[in-house]
Amino acid sequence: MGDISGFLKIKRKEAGNRPLNERICDHSEVEQVLNSEDRMLQASRCMDCGIPFCHWSCPVDNLIPEWNDLLFKGQWKAAFERLNATNNFPEVTGRICPASCEHACVLNIGKEPVTIRENEVAIVEKAFSEGYIKPSPPLKRTGKSVAVIGSGPAGLAAADLLNKSGHSVTLFEKDEKAGGLMRFGIPDFKLSKAVIDRRIDLMIKEGLTIKTCTQIGKDISAKEVVSQFDALCIAIGAGHPRDLNLEGRQFRGIYFAMDFLCNQNRVNSGQLHPDDNQINAENKKVLVIGGGDTGSDCVGTSIRQKAATVTQIEILPKPPLDRTPDNPWPYFAKTLKTSTSHEEGCERMWSLSTLRFIGTEDAVKGVEVEEVKWEVENGKYKMTSVPGTVRIIEADLILLALGFVHPVIDGLISELELELDNRKNIKTSDSLSTNIQKIFAAGDSVTGASLVVNAIASGRKAAEEIDSYLRELPPTP
Ligand SMILES: Cc1cc2nc3c(=O)[nH]c(=O)nc-3n(C[C@H](O)[C@H](O)[C@H](O)COP(=O)(O)OP(=O)(O)OC[C@H]3O[C@@H](n4cnc5c(N)ncnc54)[C@H](O)[C@@H]3O)c2cc1C
Ligand code: SF4
Repeated sequence: MGDISGFLKIKRKEAGNRPLNERICDHSEVEQVLNSEDRMLQASRCMDCGIPFCHWSCPVDNLIPEWNDLLFKGQWKAAFERLNATNNFPEVTGRICPASCEHACVLNIGKEPVTIRENEVAIVEKAFSEGYIKPSPPLKRTGKSVAVIGSGPAGLAAADLLNKSGHSVTLFEKDEKAGGLMRFGIPDFKLSKAVIDRRIDLMIKEGLTIKTCTQIGKDISAKEVVSQFDALCIAIGAGHPRDLNLEGRQFRGIYFAMDFLCNQNRVNSGQLHPDDNQINAENKKVLVIGGGDTGSDCVGTSIRQKAATVTQIEILPKPPLDRTPDNPWPYFAKTLKTSTSHEEGCERMWSLSTLRFIGTEDAVKGVEVEEVKWEVENGKYKMTSVPGTVRIIEADLILLALGFVHPVIDGLISELELELDNRKNIKTSDSLSTNIQKIFAAGDSVTGASLVVNAIASGRKAAEEIDSYLRELPPTP
């Protein structure tokens, strides 16, 4: 541990965000970076406590106290090596992870956790700029081949480790570019797509083959892929969105959040001409239904498209400002989150149930909502309507940000007759193997919609299991 009393001398200092009036005029990243000196001082605040709760709460088991100490000492290269040992894409998690590590940091008891997430991204960005990260293809190939289907963080993490282990890996992706929801879901103002391109270029130089515009189960039959590879890793995400099948759902002007966000990401990258973007919030009264992160991303994107007003509603009650007794430290704090998009100008309402859409076939005009009350009954939350509270919220663009229910079943999953669990996710054993020999699965398609860091952890685990499986096979002649 570098500075035994660093946390007593140095206050938490965040890099902060670009000024609001500036950032809403473009789609570039909102968060800024601290200079190296400040960053090292921030790392000195890590107490290297005997039990590193931060490490315990990080899904990829990042060695946080170790790299914080190396960062404090200015040993950036060594800090990167420790970080790289557990995380394939720290440049992504360092930007958009909800940082459960900081919730569990001992200094968070006093509400001033170490800036772990920002330290993480600073280390990896320094490693890129100083040239510590170079393509390192495997010295020897094993002769075994693996198909990874789906190029989100789970598929990319699995492909990266399997390729580095010497297997010949082909990554199939149905979209025109690799990256999954990191590329087409998460807005550029949270995660620049140049960050994903830089990593994918590196992986290609290390020998990974990527085939985009190739939907397995449609463009190539899944059985053909099974017959051509020694093992498969299915990482197709949880692509089936939750709908709101109410009266008026068919009215023009109601869209899934992902369609809206994908279009803007494609406009930003030049894949879609702005005039061809059919879902535009300009001058519209936008209503986002769903109070989560995807909803927040719709808020920020609508503001950048110059919406007239933006409102976000949520059926659950407003979260508390502080931890409740049943949600103590070091667990993730289930408290009110105000994102940078919310700060940019949005009305937020909670405990509102949507009853029906109002309008005509040609144009939605709003929604009818009713207040609801949540009470615990026999240990379970029960929702009841509050009489006399039905009202209308006007809107001419409605975005459904209600999450995802499970992976898309038609095509690959049904063709291979993969067994599903009771939530219709792909059923796997502890070793992430499916009911079919040599087929493994990872990420949101197994767990349901989750987080990038969980998808990376799952992809890493799948790679480890596939590697063990392949090493048991007889050598390829
Ligand atoms: C709008 C939005 C914002 C988010 N923001 C955050 C955030 O800030 N922080 C965070 O940690 N998480 C965030 N998430 C969640 C995170 O993006 C996902 O949990 C993560 O990307 C899941 O990774 P995955 O690899 O399992 O699947 P995905 O990223 O969904 O990738 C699956 C890939 O498989 C491809 N595919 C599907 N079927 C086939 C097929 N048959 N053949 C070939 N390819 C196929 C898909 O096109 C896709 O590219 C967000 C999600 C959304 C939707
Ligand atoms: S991946 Fe997430 S939880 Fe882990 S150290 Fe980084 S920010 Fe924290």
